[in-house]
Amino acid sequence: RGTVAFEDVCFSYVPERPILKGVSFSVPAGKTVAIVGPSGAGKSTISRLLFRFYEPSGGRILIDGQDIAEVTQDSLRAAIGMVPQDTVLFNDIIGYNIRYGRWNATDEEVAEAARLAQIDRFILSLPEGYDTPVGERGLKLSGGEKQRVAIARTILKGPPILVLDEATSALDSFTEREIQDALDRVSRGRTTLVIAHRLSTVVGADEIIVLDRGVIAERGTHVELLAQR
Ligand code: ADP
Ligand code: ADP
Repeated sequence: RGTVAFEDVCFSYVPERPILKGVSFSVPAGKTVAIVGPSGAGKSTISRLLFRFYEPSGGRILIDGQDIAEVTQDSLRAAIGMVPQDTVLFNDIIGYNIRYGRWNATDEEVAEAARLAQIDRFILSLPEGYDTPVGERGLKLSGGEKQRVAIARTILKGPPILVLDEATSALDSFTEREIQDALDRVSRGRTTLVIAHRLSTVVGADEIIVLDRGVIAERGTHVELLAQR
C-alpha cells in the first residue's frame, strides 16, 4: 500500500509554456524517491499535481494503481502527508499543535510522535507570542524545532505516503542535519517523495531523479549519479 506512479505526465500552467514534458517514475511502497534539480525545473509542480491542485494535461498519476483523477480529495488527503516548508503554530500548547494532525489521537500517540521528532520536551509549552493569563511567556522555537512540530503532526496523521517539499531548504546546515535525521526516522518504511535542491540532502534515497526544464535528465542512486559525473 502506498505506491505512487507518474506515467508520461505533461503539464503547463499557461498553454505556450510546458513545465513537465513527459515525466515517468514510480515510488514503490515503502521506498524513498528524491526529485532534485535547479530552481524552476518543475519539482514543486510534481507535488502540486500529486495533491491534485492542478490536473495533468497528459499522462496519468496513479496511487496504488488507481488514477488520482478518480479519487476524492478527502481520500487523497488521507493517503498523502505533506511536511511543509513553513509551519504555522496555533495558540495552543505544542502537544495540541501536534494533535492537529489527528484530533482523536491519544495522549500516548501524541507523545510518541513528539518523541520520534525529538520535541517531547516542549510538549506542554505554548509557542512564542502566546503568553498565558498568569504571565508565563510562550516559548521561542527555532525554525528547525518548528519544522519538527510539523514532522510530528504528519507522523501522527499516519499517511502511507509522505511528501517532503524542500523540507530543509530554509534552515542552517546544523539544523538541516538534525531535521534530516528526524525525517529519515519518519520516512523509514513509508513511501516517501522528497523534493530537494541539493543532492547532498538525499544521499539515502532509493532512487534520485534529476529534473531539468521539465524532463528527467538523470536517474539512479547517489553513488550511480556521482559516478556519471
Ligand atoms: P521548482 O520547484 O523546480 O523550483 P516549480 O515546479 O515551482 O519549480 O516551477 C516550475 C516552473 O513553473 C517555473 O518556471 C515557475 O515559474 C513556473 N510556475 C510555477 N507555478 C506557476 C503558476 N502557478 N503559474 C505559472 N507558472 C508557474
Ligand atoms: P518556491 O520555489 O519558493 O516554493 P513556488 O514553487 O511557489 O516558490 O514558485 C516557484 C516559482 O513559480 C517562482 O518563481 C514563482 O514566482 C513562480 N510562480 C508561483 N506561482 C505563480 C503564479 N501563480 N503565476 C506565475 N508564476 C508563479
